[in-house]
Amino acid sequence: MPTKKLPLKKTPTKKVATKVVSKTAAKTPTKKVSKKEDAGLPLSVVIRRRIEAQKARFHANDNIAAFIRPGELEGLVDEVAEKMQAVLESLVIDTQSDHNTKNTSQRVAKMYVQEVFNGRYVVQPTLTKFPNVSRLNELMIVGPITIRSACSHHLCPIMGRIWIGVLPSKESALIGLSKYSRLTEWVMCRPQIQEEAVVELADMLEKKIKPIGVAIVMDADHFCMQWRGVKDRDSKMVNSVMRGAFLKDPNLRREFLSLLEKR
Ligand SMILES: [Zn+2]
Repeated sequence: MPTKKLPLKKTPTKKVATKVVSKTAAKTPTKKVSKKEDAGLPLSVVIRRRIEAQKARFHANDNIAAFIRPGELEGLVDEVAEKMQAVLESLVIDTQSDHNTKNTSQRVAKMYVQEVFNGRYVVQPTLTKFPNVSRLNELMIVGPITIRSACSHHLCPIMGRIWIGVLPSKESALIGLSKYSRLTEWVMCRPQIQEEAVVELADMLEKKIKPIGVAIVMDADHFCMQWRGVKDRDSKMVNSVMRGAFLKDPNLRREFLSLLEKR
């Protein structure tokens, strides 16, 4: 008997829903429906659904700011804190009596969302572009810019330095020196893989500046090799990306690399 009653209950609610849709303006129903679907779901699931609806990617090093609405980051901090607390409990840490770990879950959540992985959740810093008035077309090097990131594999810190070489064309739009640091920080404040991070940064600079060439060298300490794993304190990773003129012209590449060695 109860199984027969259930479908009966379902149909009227469906009818009500369609009535609401037909009464409201053509654009609003999707919003109303999604709000109803969101009710009671963790915020991360709500955001994830928005991303999936757009078929966008949300890997550790992707920026998902476009899918987060004002005020939601605070909610995300609370959700992460709750789950971090569960991790501490599973690690059998007494967060009640141990005053040092009492608010650790909240601190870690804030650190992840608002600081070290913030580059996933906030929009790209605005880059004021200046026309290349003096028609500069000489090699320009910015750096070292300090890198603070974390590996996507272990969420262990990656600390290092980066140098950016730009060969602008006479038509290039230039960006202020501080903007190179801002953009770098935005890309690095995500769980990253060094090789992918430098490529992403090079792509962005190429798109923004439209130079004849871009070169990036990154030199970093990976704590997942120093703190854990092989525990080799001196292991470093250096990698580079060469684009355009830096790829084609060995003299330019040499000039860039020799200038770095002097630092
Ligand atoms: Zn790692």
